Amino acid sequence: MSSRAPPKALLQDMVVPPRQLFGPGPSNMADSIAETQSKSLLGHLHPEFVQIMGDVRLGLQYIFKTDNNYTFAVSGTGHSGMECAMVNLLEPGDRFLVVEIGLWGQRAADLANRMGIEVKKISAPHGKAVPVEDIRKAIAEYKPNLVFVCQGDSSTGVAQPLETIGDACREHGALFLVDTVASLGGTPFAADDLKVDCVYSATQKVLNAPPGLAPISFSDRAIEKIRNRKQRVASFYFDALELGNYWGCDGELKRYHHTAPISTVYALRAALSAIAKEGIDESIQRHKDNAQVLYSALKKNGLEPFVEDEKLRLPCLTTVKVPEGVDWKDVAGKMLTNGTEIAGGLGATVGKIWRIGTFGINSNKTKIENVVELLSNSIKETRSKI
Ligand code: PMP
Repeated sequence: MSSRAPPKALLQDMVVPPRQLFGPGPSNMADSIAETQSKSLLGHLHPEFVQIMGDVRLGLQYIFKTDNNYTFAVSGTGHSGMECAMVNLLEPGDRFLVVEIGLWGQRAADLANRMGIEVKKISAPHGKAVPVEDIRKAIAEYKPNLVFVCQGDSSTGVAQPLETIGDACREHGALFLVDTVASLGGTPFAADDLKVDCVYSATQKVLNAPPGLAPISFSDRAIEKIRNRKQRVASFYFDALELGNYWGCDGELKRYHHTAPISTVYALRAALSAIAKEGIDESIQRHKDNAQVLYSALKKNGLEPFVEDEKLRLPCLTTVKVPEGVDWKDVAGKMLTNGTEIAGGLGATVGKIWRIGTFGINSNKTKIENVVELLSNSIKETRSKI
């Protein structure tokens, strides 16, 4: 019988340095959220926890701006929201239209490919959005069953306009799916007004909670399609009707589905409470105002946003062009040594940009000015080495 000694590393304390998280996520946890992480666990069907889940559902309806009954949180990170949406809303033989403005459209297409679903992509060059008229035309011509749009693509910093896409979807019998992982709470979104049939997000960006839950909402049209599927959803864990029952969305007696990540649900409730206290529209306005602070500070330091059209910039995640002759990695590394994270590009934007996330509590004038000062000094230091 082989036996292993206890790993030496585990006999030491864990090292977790304090960090200012100004990358694309996770963002910093607000104190009111961090406090919840040491609260006692409750059983996942205890009445007090059921009450907390109910509060979370109300908070999510508030921030998604929807009356959808099937509004809850999937246990998992943003990707679990994406997978949950797609495995429920797509069936073999369906056609899927993906609006691609960066990595997240590619990821949605990749998931559909794995499911054997036919995908058509309509793409924009990086740093730009797809004109809404082109999307409407593609819907009319291709007649997809499902249309995917990422509202805020964290690989490019572009905010894709969504207006009237939902109308085109209704007109041509498609469902409308939107990724708001990097945008919810930081830029305007209203599921019902935009006629969105499914929207998902994540906890670790504007909400300032730890990663681990994916808020999601399904319209009645979406639920009808799921109920009338020819084949059962291939995933038990992501079955929207099962999850909806567990979250109390269908008015039936709750069945055990899985053990919710109790502490992360506490964190999400605290995050939603913070947004309710500030007001969702006030939160969005603050992100917009502080994006201006960031643009001015960049300009003052001779730096340029990657997304040229200001109307298409995601207010809570700004991409910045790496100046000629500067090593982006060296700069980001220097900043991290100073306790502040910003990130390089992702996918096709690697090497070309930095990504600065100003999510939730990090959307703050003084903090933003400090980050840009540190960025500018770090660039100067790396340049003086050459
Ligand atoms: N969509 C977008 C727009 C994202 O920015 C991310 C995370 N960066 C995801 C989906 C996936 O989320 P997660 O990493 O939490 O799985």
